[in-house]
Amino acid sequence: GRGTHRLSTAAIEELIIPPVQVNYTKLLINGQFVDAASGKTFPTLDPRTGEVIAHVAEADSEDINRAVSAARKAFDEGPWPKMTAYERSRILLRFADLVEKHSDELAALETWNNGKPFEQAAKAELPLFVRLFHYYAGWADKIHGLTAPADGPYHVQTLHEPIGVAGQIIPWNFPLIMFAWKVGPALACGNTIVLKAAEQTPLTALYVAKLFHEHNLAKIQADAMPEHYEAELEINDFPQNARWKAGLPPGVLNIVPGYGPTAGAALARHMDVDKIAFTGSTDTGKVVLELAAKSNLKPVTLELGGKSPFIVCEDADVDKAVELAHFALFFNQGQCCCAGSRTFVHERVYDEFLEKSKARALRRTVGDPFKKGIEQGPQIDGEQFEKILRYIRSGVESSATLECGGGRLGSKGFYIQPTVFSGVQDHMLIAKDEIFGPVQSILKFNDLDDVIRRANATRYGLAAGVFTNNLDTANTLSRALRAGTVWINCFDVFDAAIPFGGYKMSGIGREKGIYSLHNYLQVKSVVTPLKNPAWL
Ligand code: NAD
Repeated sequence: GRGTHRLSTAAIEELIIPPVQVNYTKLLINGQFVDAASGKTFPTLDPRTGEVIAHVAEADSEDINRAVSAARKAFDEGPWPKMTAYERSRILLRFADLVEKHSDELAALETWNNGKPFEQAAKAELPLFVRLFHYYAGWADKIHGLTAPADGPYHVQTLHEPIGVAGQIIPWNFPLIMFAWKVGPALACGNTIVLKAAEQTPLTALYVAKLFHEHNLAKIQADAMPEHYEAELEINDFPQNARWKAGLPPGVLNIVPGYGPTAGAALARHMDVDKIAFTGSTDTGKVVLELAAKSNLKPVTLELGGKSPFIVCEDADVDKAVELAHFALFFNQGQCCCAGSRTFVHERVYDEFLEKSKARALRRTVGDPFKKGIEQGPQIDGEQFEKILRYIRSGVESSATLECGGGRLGSKGFYIQPTVFSGVQDHMLIAKDEIFGPVQSILKFNDLDDVIRRANATRYGLAAGVFTNNLDTANTLSRALRAGTVWINCFDVFDAAIPFGGYKMSGIGREKGIYSLHNYLQVKSVVTPLKNPAWL
């Protein structure tokens, strides 16, 4: 029969929550915190209770105009794109170190605003954030063009130049990590930025952006900076005694919390934004692409939804496969674009896998994300919560078997029971749509050809997981699956240098790794005649 799940309370030690205050709730434009032009604010909530944490300035198109013109000026006239790459690298490194110092407050703020387990934020996400900025700091002074051969007496070189003002729109599921994926490469390449944080989770972006400006900025006056830079840079100082001793110059990174159809859309269609990068749903990605096309044809990178297969082969060690498949789906409350949300299990191991997956889901500790040992906190908000419950009802109606879970947990906040469906068929909505919640769908397959065809029969192509001990099977599947990432006997490995992005309707372009730099660079060919070449 169906097990029941309870909110974990007893026997779990309270974590000491690091004290954190909400100090930054305004728009960050040109290095200053300012109110929205309209004076409007919106509430940001604690998903544990649905209560208001703070009211945050709400950007709309007028604020986007202000932020874009600050970014434009910082790019066209400011020191940022012109300083040496080494100096930019130093600023990114110092920022990363500063975030490391503030890790506990930031992890607490991330948990408070997003609902993810504090231990996950503190032990995994903050260190990864720091790592990402160290990684991009390392790239800053290793970006360069090449020389190319010509068919005549010409010297040909390519310059890799920053693209200009980057507009960036991020979601709420990993507020800090998404910030790092977007801001890291854009700054390493010398661009300036207007970033729209998700309306659900604006707090940590404002906090880290403040740190970016604070460090060493001391008393330098915003309007004196370019002159200061010019005056002190002497050719003989280059580069050891580089002069830029401040943090990020004003206008380089502007943060505009606000809603999608207002602030987000204004950014995507802005004529003075040179590039747009978006992470979120496929439907919104299409809107962003269209706005970019209808305005100034700015290039667009998109990181969108998924319905990733996780394939458990017949040779699998079932206990390990169960644990990894569980992690692949339930991690971060199931709110991952790459969640392994179609668990395909070979018929030979299916029954045992199912029993153990159900038992594992029932053991999952759900509760206040600030408590120790908690694996799952609340979903982000009421809208997502309702959407997930609708999908669960649709699973039941389409006659998949509800093995466990299926309802809300507790009476306040947005907690959902870890839910497992078996006997899921490819045509069911729960096997086709992105649910973005703690709902595992288990499907049975009989051979590799069968599972390859079915795994690929989706409009998405973000990621895939394969669990096998057979090298041939691993190689066959990794080549056959149409997805931007294939994890073999692992899942959700997100190292800084591993490119991430989607095939098909899961997106356009890649983030992280060397590929992410191409999103933020223009290539200029410079051709010079050669006089009296020695040979040619
Ligand atoms: P969304 O795509 O609507 O929101 C993502 C970001 O886009 C937010 O910052 C939002 O304000 C902005 N946005 C929304 N409408 C916009 C518009 N018209 N123009 C410009 N920007 C706009 O996603 P959501 O509503 O938060 O969640 C809906 C679903 O999206 C989820 O259930 C999930 O399936 C998916 N999602 C995917 C990811 C991911 O990492 N790929 C992240 C969050 C949500």
